[in-house]
Amino acid sequence: KQTSPAQSEFYQAVEEVLESIEPVISERPKYREQGIIERLVEPERQIMFRVPWVDDNGQVQVNKGYRIEFNSALGPYKGGLRFHPSVNAGIIKFLGFEQIFKNALTGLPIGGGKGGANFDPKGKSDGEIMRFCQSFMNELHRHIGPNTDVPAGDIGVGTREIGYLFGQYKRLVNRFDGVLTGKSALWGGSHVRKEATGYGAVYFAQCLLGDNNESMNDKRCLVSGSGNVAIYAMEKLYELGAKPVSCSDSSGTIYHEAGIDLDLVKRIKEENHDRLEAYLETHSNAHYTAREDYPEDGHQVWRYEADIAFPCATQNELTEKDAQALLENGCRYIVEGANMPCTQNAVDLFIESNTAYAPGKAANAGGVATSQLEMAQNASMQKWSFEEVDDKLQRIMRSIYRDCKRAAEEFDHPSNLALGANIAGFRKVADAMLQQGVV
Ligand code: NDP
Repeated sequence: KQTSPAQSEFYQAVEEVLESIEPVISERPKYREQGIIERLVEPERQIMFRVPWVDDNGQVQVNKGYRIEFNSALGPYKGGLRFHPSVNAGIIKFLGFEQIFKNALTGLPIGGGKGGANFDPKGKSDGEIMRFCQSFMNELHRHIGPNTDVPAGDIGVGTREIGYLFGQYKRLVNRFDGVLTGKSALWGGSHVRKEATGYGAVYFAQCLLGDNNESMNDKRCLVSGSGNVAIYAMEKLYELGAKPVSCSDSSGTIYHEAGIDLDLVKRIKEENHDRLEAYLETHSNAHYTAREDYPEDGHQVWRYEADIAFPCATQNELTEKDAQALLENGCRYIVEGANMPCTQNAVDLFIESNTAYAPGKAANAGGVATSQLEMAQNASMQKWSFEEVDDKLQRIMRSIYRDCKRAAEEFDHPSNLALGANIAGFRKVADAMLQQGVV
């Protein structure tokens, strides 16, 4: 029951899961008797802390830091850190809750957690980013460990930030632990981690299309975002012969009929940390729509013709109106690279219209799965080749797809992968909780 309207994203995520697992709960009364739901929705531990730092003008700034250790039934808490001004306890809780089931779906021994800060990396110098990360770790280090809680990146936290966080952790504890994933491949990072979420989402899409005897070749794709997930989804799409024609950032959307110039997007976003609008300086024939000119109740990025849509930016970025526009424009597959990017009304519309819809907790699980492969390499002091990790990632994505499909079929909704993902993830966590007693 909703008691705090401020945590709307968290309640949205919980309602979605609880609704789909109803048939499993009725089937196995032990889940109810043992208070599994009540225990699942309450994080095992929530840490909130002050993050003070000094900006380039010598002014003291203070942000709010969070780490929510949600559920450790299947393994150490695992989940990313998000640095974005919109971060609050409700957003971190929704992300942590989703992470429990996503991690369970990977079949790997990892529990669910999430963290971050309401820090805005935009416009900050490298020195400011470093000082912020160091201050964040000054508190976080006492709560994490390679067998306790292993954070990774998310929005606003990439290889650079993980580097600064790790450097400070090592200085504080005097150990070279595999305590963070998404590290540089130079010093403990895994091949394919950077690419894993985007590649994984496309591998998942391949399974979906394959079931309809279709391939990715020549498919027109709408992608939102231009960060880590979006960039490597587009890279894999090109490799498989598909054509991404859009991408976006928080200021606007680029549509390029000839296909997005990915090298240019990488340069703008990964090297220059600039706005996507800079794309027009090289491609004046591309079309840019600023955020203020988006259609009412929606986003420009979903208003073009396409076969497949990959929302890869942030939560609730694809509304019911966007969903209608996609369907009217012939889109037949929706694959979520981001976490909960479609509003519940949009999801309902996809499911009612029998459109193939792949929920984020299944389709974007390649990132956390590869993070676990990074943990395994760190623990055994090994480094696997790019091909070896990519091969494991593909197998994991196929197995997640199979598990979701099987659960959806078992409960008589064969094409409802959202239901399948929730049920398959829930059963693994709930059974582990039953075996571990009421704790
Ligand atoms: P990045 O920070 O690398 O990129 C985020 C992208 O989304 C940027 O283009 C950003 O634009 C845009 N964006 C962020 N917030 C908003 C907003 N409020 N409105 C519009 N656009 C926005 O993050 P990631 O690519 O890592 O993450 C994207 C999504 O994927 C998130 O939902 C994340 O939780 C999820 N995810 C990420 C994983 C990973 O491995 N990185 C794993 C699984 C899920 P701008 O540049 O203007 O900020």
